[in-house]
Amino acid sequence: MLETITVLKVSALDLLVTEEFRTSAWVKTITDGLSMWVTDDPMPPGHFGTYFGALTRRTYPNRWVQDLYHLHECVHTRVTRFQPTATWTEWSRKMIQAEFEASIASECTAYLQIPGLREKTFPHEIWVDRFLGKKDLAAEPLLQHIRDERVRALNAPRFDDFLEHQIWNYCRQNIIWCRIWTQNVGYGPHAQLPAFRAVEAHMAASDRDASHEQWLASVTPTEGYVRVPFLHQADAFAPVYKRSGEDFGNSVLAR
Ligand SMILES: [Zn+2]
Repeated sequence: MLETITVLKVSALDLLVTEEFRTSAWVKTITDGLSMWVTDDPMPPGHFGTYFGALTRRTYPNRWVQDLYHLHECVHTRVTRFQPTATWTEWSRKMIQAEFEASIASECTAYLQIPGLREKTFPHEIWVDRFLGKKDLAAEPLLQHIRDERVRALNAPRFDDFLEHQIWNYCRQNIIWCRIWTQNVGYGPHAQLPAFRAVEAHMAASDRDASHEQWLASVTPTEGYVRVPFLHQADAFAPVYKRSGEDFGNSVLAR
């Protein structure tokens, strides 16, 4: 028996539970023809399983927020091209840009494309609210304006604007994540390989699907009781993720 998490491959559309998402033409542009490796096994907080073919399925009290989460992960899979020969800087830029695209989709475009969605998600103000009332702009120019403003907030948040600091913080968190994934796997057959290189090589391989579970086991420690792929990366990132949530998470806004 393989000593790792259990994964299964599902169609991306099957991850979504609300009528609004399941019937949206825009959502279909993301989910059409896409399938995702998922797991229901416990994973450490913030462990980015989608990247290595093990998206943690989640249940949220709010079904629309749950769909936003799963859609965000689908965008990651949709836009990420695995390139084992890329340099670290090329790789980290790819990962940070993928997070930008996934966040634009799940935190901004979804509200422009799915009528009535905003009233169903967060009770507190969110960053995109400041743009949703701008009826003078057609959908495309508005989205471009939102993207431009997002980039500006990522680079230089307004000093008194907490919602922009949230966005800026996500970017810092991405960069820390990239650095953590530079560290070696640390055990098993890929012990001496930087974690991101182990992922890129496997995810680009022609036999990826057939070898996926075996590969996950090869990047899961066999010592101790914890069966989590890339355990060192998970352990290093969990406190960053927790701290980031405490300092900049939506829970701050809900008070
Ligand atoms: Zn993401």
